[in-house]
Amino acid sequence: MVHTVAGQRRIRTCFPCIQHELSEPQGKHGARRDRKYNGGMNAPIGIIGGSGLYRMEGLALDRAEVVDTPFGAPSGPVHLGTLDGAPVAFLARHGEGHRFTPSEVNYRANLWALKFLGVERLISVSAVGSLQARHRPGDLRLVGQFIDKTRHRQDTFFGGGLVAHVSFAEPTCGHVSKALLAAGRELALPLEEDALYVCMEGPAFSTRAESRLHQSWGADLIGMTQVTEARLAREAELCYACIALVTDYDAWREEEEGVDAASVLEVMHANVDKAQRLLRAAVPGLAAAARTCACGEALKAALYTAPEQVPSDALQRLGLLVAKYGYGTP
Ligand SMILES: [Zn+2]
Repeated sequence: MVHTVAGQRRIRTCFPCIQHELSEPQGKHGARRDRKYNGGMNAPIGIIGGSGLYRMEGLALDRAEVVDTPFGAPSGPVHLGTLDGAPVAFLARHGEGHRFTPSEVNYRANLWALKFLGVERLISVSAVGSLQARHRPGDLRLVGQFIDKTRHRQDTFFGGGLVAHVSFAEPTCGHVSKALLAAGRELALPLEEDALYVCMEGPAFSTRAESRLHQSWGADLIGMTQVTEARLAREAELCYACIALVTDYDAWREEEEGVDAASVLEVMHANVDKAQRLLRAAVPGLAAAARTCACGEALKAALYTAPEQVPSDALQRLGLLVAKYGYGTP
């Protein structure tokens, strides 16, 4: 179902409609076959912008879509267009005007909307604190591993009658991360790979004791959002990579005053320019490259519930993710 609201298209998603659209010219509830980005074809790269990155420079905007998902409303409209010729879907994580705390962001709706609009590879951009002296404010890092300390958020699509346990040993996509690293080296950006990221709940920053504890674990970075996006991207079978923008030294250094939001914002704005340049350098090549990693089959051996045992409401909610494995198909 497509509504037009103040120049933006609003899509009310209905799983039977999606199936219908993919197989027939007209959806039975009136959804249109000419919807350019539906069906996993035309917006293979998704970008989620974090603090400071609320719009993607260079994105030739085709339109903005407001998607109503089975998990509620995303943070805002998804901006669809081309970035230097490559189809891209962009979403601001915290909403336009930065309205949602890390605990309030509806990660499930965000990821579901991007999947629905055809995204296959997701690049997430996020501000972080540094837990080690070698990661300096102004540096960019690609995340390789996570420690999850979140407490108050929904971080799985599954449950309610359909159980899945995805492999999460390697939470980021090596192919996408390598492409970003190569582009960063071309541009001579201060970029390194394979950082260990502690994801805390927030919204307050760490105490000094917590910061030192995280440092003693050997962690590199601390942030408030990325492990949740990574988990859901894996469940949605999206490639996922995180560009972490180092804004401060968290609270572990004696000589620092501790983190305050004003100094974080200042460095962050300078970092956003580097992130934009990195994305513009990497995305066209990535969009043209074949997807040879295993991310697109993450659910293949992960679905534990027999298809005939799954309640119909769970099939409605999760069909976008699991229909290809024989769940809910006629
Ligand atoms: Zn991948």
